[in-house]
Amino acid sequence: MQSVHDIYQKEMSKATEGTCQMPLGGGCPNHGEGALNGVCLDSAPHCEQSVRSKSNLVGNMDKIITDCQQGSSYFFIDDDVKRLEGSEGSEGSRVQGVQGVKSSEELKSGIISVPALVDLHVHFREPGNPEKETIKTGVESAEAGGYGLVCTMPNLTPVPDCLENLKAELALIEEAQNDSMKVIPFGSLTKGRRGKEPARFAEMMPYVAGFSDDGNGVEDDDVMEECMSRIAALGGLVVAHPEKGEGLESESREVERDIRLAAKTGCRLHLCHISTRKSIELIREAKREGVKVSCETAPHYLLLEDDEQQTLRNSLDGRFRMNPPIGTRADRIALVDALIDGTIDVIATDHAPHTEEDKRNGANGVVGLESAFPVMYTHFVRTGLITLDRLVALMSTNGMKILGMSDCVLPNVVWGVAREYEINPSQFKSKGRSCPFEGMKVFGKVVRREAL
Ligand SMILES: [Zn+2]
Repeated sequence: MQSVHDIYQKEMSKATEGTCQMPLGGGCPNHGEGALNGVCLDSAPHCEQSVRSKSNLVGNMDKIITDCQQGSSYFFIDDDVKRLEGSEGSEGSRVQGVQGVKSSEELKSGIISVPALVDLHVHFREPGNPEKETIKTGVESAEAGGYGLVCTMPNLTPVPDCLENLKAELALIEEAQNDSMKVIPFGSLTKGRRGKEPARFAEMMPYVAGFSDDGNGVEDDDVMEECMSRIAALGGLVVAHPEKGEGLESESREVERDIRLAAKTGCRLHLCHISTRKSIELIREAKREGVKVSCETAPHYLLLEDDEQQTLRNSLDGRFRMNPPIGTRADRIALVDALIDGTIDVIATDHAPHTEEDKRNGANGVVGLESAFPVMYTHFVRTGLITLDRLVALMSTNGMKILGMSDCVLPNVVWGVAREYEINPSQFKSKGRSCPFEGMKVFGKVVRREAL
């Protein structure tokens, strides 16, 4: 198993062979014109600065790995980003979006224009618990976070396990969504999400993104197989939450079972919020064997580490408390590797708002819609670990593919990425305030949402 450090060094040596690929904003005077997707594509090495910046990057990764090995319970790449960027000036943020920059004025001011984001995994709590979030506040939160489409999980009251029950949610969605911000619900996999009998798939099929029992994984293998067979026959998607039970091992046990059943039934399977190294290895293997499986992770699993005692989880009013829990260093590094090598298909937020009181009482779940893109952009694109193009695939276009909606056009969202700011959950549109990235310094604020 290669570490992120190995992969990164390999990436960097590749970079000097072909194109420069230095992240823009690093101060290279020779690129800008030939730039695409946040990296310079000029022949390399074409300037001393870019070469120096590359060795800085590798050095920074050394420091990160060392910090991790010394057992920091969590870490951020902030300092490295700042050092990389050097002085933040007018020329300091020449970042170009996949859709191209509109004018040189925008180029100078650090503007990117990318397709609206897609989140396959949010909890909008309505109908059932509007005190935690309503579909309306969820939509506002998603808009502020640069999203154009989100899919809501079915842990609701009533449980959307038949068209009749789904109608309540559909009516609220109809009221809250708009032309550039759509919501598609998931139907439940079993009746009442109790894991005993399949839900009524065919009648819900035209209105849902797929079927899931959310946090209640279906424990009974036979029931899961029956659900998958029926959904496969309808051409639908099963979204599994492998998080049932205690401990990190339970995730990979469910991943293994679900992959086996997907291979057997031919059902399309999407695995939610993968958080462990073991699960990643199983998914990588399944993909190699041609099983129709996709998977997601969330920004907190890529950026945070916890120790065996779960110190982080039990700190700071529960803003690091979610299911599955944040893993160890080995888990996080495996996830970053998987992000780079393509095993991870999408970044989802698992946006799961609670009231302050519920969080105090130990509720699992954190909000993420308004921090996900800035956090990912700052720590993965600006550092050069992935290109902006890849981030857009992870946070937008791959999600559309999984939903079978590649033909649908998403509106563009314009982001300002020149100025650093601190994530402040008290300013969120979401009713949820518990965010693991509170206080983190990031780049990326929505400047404008373009109409379709
Ligand atoms: Zn969830």
